[in-house]
Amino acid sequence: MKSVIGLEIHAQLSTKTKAFCSCKNEVNAEPNTNICPVCTGQPGALPVLNDQVVEYAIRGALALKCDIHEISSFDRKNYFYPDLPKGYQITQYFHPIATNGHIVLSNGKRVRIRRIHIEEDAGKMFHSSENITKSTSSLVDLNRCGIPLIEIVTEPDMEKPEEAREFIEKLRNILKTVEINTGNMEEGALRCDANVSVVDENGHSSSRVEVKNINSPRFVQRAIEYEISRISKVMKSGKTVPMETRGWDSVSKSTVSMRSKEAENDYRYFPEPDLPILSVSKERIERIKKSLPELPDEKAKRYERELNIKNENAQLLAKDKEISKYFENAIKIGISPKDASNWIVNEVMALFNADSSEFDSKKIPLTHLKKIVEYTNSSKISRLAAKEIMAEVYKSGKDPDTIVKEKNLLQVSDESSLVPIVKEVISENAKVVEQYRKGKTTVIGFFVGAVMKKTKGKADPKLVGKLAKEILDGEKSDQTD
Ligand code: ZN
Ligand code: MN
Repeated sequence: MKSVIGLEIHAQLSTKTKAFCSCKNEVNAEPNTNICPVCTGQPGALPVLNDQVVEYAIRGALALKCDIHEISSFDRKNYFYPDLPKGYQITQYFHPIATNGHIVLSNGKRVRIRRIHIEEDAGKMFHSSENITKSTSSLVDLNRCGIPLIEIVTEPDMEKPEEAREFIEKLRNILKTVEINTGNMEEGALRCDANVSVVDENGHSSSRVEVKNINSPRFVQRAIEYEISRISKVMKSGKTVPMETRGWDSVSKSTVSMRSKEAENDYRYFPEPDLPILSVSKERIERIKKSLPELPDEKAKRYERELNIKNENAQLLAKDKEISKYFENAIKIGISPKDASNWIVNEVMALFNADSSEFDSKKIPLTHLKKIVEYTNSSKISRLAAKEIMAEVYKSGKDPDTIVKEKNLLQVSDESSLVPIVKEVISENAKVVEQYRKGKTTVIGFFVGAVMKKTKGKADPKLVGKLAKEILDGEKSDQTD
């Protein structure tokens, strides 16, 4: 069994106003307050294209390595639903603004982007269980009607659910980096639909199933995993997989059938008569291209080249805008690039991953990180203690100085207090001393371990190793004399 995965992503553009009217682009306002005759489809109201939408769409498309078309146009996608009072959505069907882009995944795979088009969003429904009337009715909020979107359509180039997840993560970071989208999937600013089909050993392919409205990268992976296993089971049982649209339910962690899939021609697309052709000059495209900030992949390469960060870490540090900012600021306040990279990748990011929450620089302030790194580098605390402090900062926000005092974590690193303990350990382990004398010098590690145990991890291991060796070698020369 092999699976074929393609994605369609709707990204809200963070413009000041809506796509075709001057209503505020603000989804979370009081319901039905940011509306006007244009975005609610009143007879005679005419749309006027917001130029900032064009600017943002081009920024996004260029960052995704697309060709921008100097001429594109708008069309009507017709369907009925209560959240769409006009009865059609303005989109770009026949001539999209951009085509032929790509994102390269960490395994080197190039996922092609077939097209990017501008369109408007529909309103939002609240169904009985969640609405204030507690009855079996539905409410509609039209604030979202006319909010500008770009729809990004990939080729079916992905085979694994993890690839789809990485694609979404990279896409989200790119759109955030060029500042056209907030990346907030939970709030619906970035919505992902996945097209999944499965091909069996004989090359027979199932029909394509579309899973709609997946609201986090993790759920993109989960939803696709679920669909692949569901479709495979249906195929193995000899039944045919219906072509349908399913919805991801993040509570039951499963997909549920919504409707049989409509064909493209059910929408009766036709050119939008109320909007002129969209024309953008070569000069404008060039100007926008030059104004783009450094993109995540370029950033990763720069970390490798200029800061000597190993490829794997550079990728991880550059893959999220907040993390890369945190990393660069860590260097600015005097943490060495190597330390910053190691501590952020191995310790800081691990804490957020452990409770699968989004990175938040406020949870481990850089001044705290710097103190922990300095404590460790000067051997005042052990690596183990550093981990403990880091976890405590993450949990309670306390200052590392306070934590060190409270938990009594300072390393014992003065010789006079360590020598007796080392001697004690040596006298207690005659057999190991014997091995050492026979030339097995690696047993030093055993003595270090024993001292660490006696001091509850607070001894400086490097110093203990040095002392153990000196004492043992001293004894050895005593005996041969
Ligand atoms: Zn409006
Ligand atoms: Mn769409």
